[in-house]
Amino acid sequence: MSDTPSTSSVFLPTWPTRRTDANLYPNGSTKSDELVLHDYGLEEIPMRYHIEQPEEDYDPQNVKKLDLTHNSFVILRGLTTFNNVSVLDVSFNSLSALPEDIGTLSSLTTLIARNNLLEHLPKGLQLLENLEHLYLSGNRLEYVPPVILTMRKLKTLHLGGNYIDSCPSNISVLTLLRVLYLGGNRLREIPASIGCLDELENLGLCDNILETIPSTLGDLHYLETLSLHNNRLRTLPTDILNLRRLQQLSLRNNPLVHSFVHNMDLAPPSLKELSGRTVRQNYHKVPNLDEILPSDLVAYLGSACQCVNPECQGVYFDARVEHIKFVDFCGKYRVPLMQFLCSPRCSAGVPSVDYDTSSESEEEIEPIMRRVLLG
Ligand SMILES: [Zn+2]
Repeated sequence: MSDTPSTSSVFLPTWPTRRTDANLYPNGSTKSDELVLHDYGLEEIPMRYHIEQPEEDYDPQNVKKLDLTHNSFVILRGLTTFNNVSVLDVSFNSLSALPEDIGTLSSLTTLIARNNLLEHLPKGLQLLENLEHLYLSGNRLEYVPPVILTMRKLKTLHLGGNYIDSCPSNISVLTLLRVLYLGGNRLREIPASIGCLDELENLGLCDNILETIPSTLGDLHYLETLSLHNNRLRTLPTDILNLRRLQQLSLRNNPLVHSFVHNMDLAPPSLKELSGRTVRQNYHKVPNLDEILPSDLVAYLGSACQCVNPECQGVYFDARVEHIKFVDFCGKYRVPLMQFLCSPRCSAGVPSVDYDTSSESEEEIEPIMRRVLLG
């Protein structure tokens, strides 16, 4: 691929509606350091342009923002002459690859290459140490290109509308990510390590084939938007109630409310469990119990969980009954969350629907008990 810039000169027609005194640059640009070459049918980057007579030249060194969207680029030549560019947008072209020498654009903070034909990314991208925003939606990627995981300053990563069928667990190295969009792919699962992305504010996982999401999503304390619509989710981990900043949660087109029941055998709680429950509830009646009991039993008693039924006051250890509670979320959704009760008898005291709807049929959402024994 040639590094030689094109010497072609193109005539850019003036756009009366866009050309005002405050808008002196071609095709809507208002800043002298922007070169906006949008929708001219270009196949090469012109090194000269003229709006009106006399012909105006530009110096690629002065360009901070380069917009080449909606043209006919198949390959990009001459990009390296723009070595001070910080925002490059090559969306809506026919690029099957980005040039290897793109790595020389060391000032680049934003790279937008939506809606092209990209299947891979060049290794040269790893030289873009200052890149913070990367938009690659609407391409032909079948995997998350490993070079992305070297870009440790990334705050925004859009990979929607590709053919990606797995998310690598080491996505967690991108600790500065605030926006991660993976919608419209072929994802079946999300790695638990996603919970390590501490700064994440916006997570798009819609339009995939997810059947579960990891409970570690509850660790994303800054999350404001979570898109899960058009998946195969049957339930959500209770941990998402930890997402105190969540403002938008989209869940439509998931089998969430249906088919909870799986036939699972209910085995009786162990003798240790039953005696543990009794001791735990009468803890206060026996002074210095911690000093009398062996330390492993003290630890066991300390591991008791409170039954969610407020009428019960009971505890459980390993034997618990799963209970689906519907919570009204954001005033828009009824979210089925997993809760745990100490025994099947306790279900009577806990409303399975935690909100008041006047018109909607509650028969649609049968209070369903699912019995699960763990441990
Ligand atoms: Zn109970």
